[in-house]
Amino acid sequence: MGHEGIRFVSEEEARRSDAAERELPSDAKVPAKVRVFKSEGTGMEIVWKDGHRSHWDFAWLRNACPCATCHDERKRAGRKPGEPKQQPQTLLPMYQAPPRPETVTPVGHYAISFHWNDGHQSGIYSWDYLRRHCACEECATQQVS
Ligand SMILES: [Zn+2]
Ligand SMILES: [Zn+2]
Repeated sequence: MGHEGIRFVSEEEARRSDAAERELPSDAKVPAKVRVFKSEGTGMEIVWKDGHRSHWDFAWLRNACPCATCHDERKRAGRKPGEPKQQPQTLLPMYQAPPRPETVTPVGHYAISFHWNDGHQSGIYSWDYLRRHCACEECATQQVS
């Protein structure tokens, strides 16, 4: 028998994925109120059933797209969800319109999806995912980098 297929996971890695997969209390991942400031362009706000309030701007949300393509691309580039792409240094940088959703669609009772102004629309942002990536200062200091 060879060693192929056996993956060694360091203790630290194991601990980190434990933290990422820790079950959230149900009140922490059920939104009491969802507001998308589409015309203002300022992002999305969720007030959760446990009283916590989260806000993400649209650039963050676009850069945190959970679809497989974006996820893989971030993994390859070593970017965290929400982290902006490194812009190539050119003499004539191309103007890119800031990310904005053209339509916002609820997905069942568990998620929301955006049709972005760059045409991308395959990401399904589950409440669970959003709460785990709450961008408020309090949560940001708790998240494992
Ligand atoms: Zn995507
Ligand atoms: Zn938070």
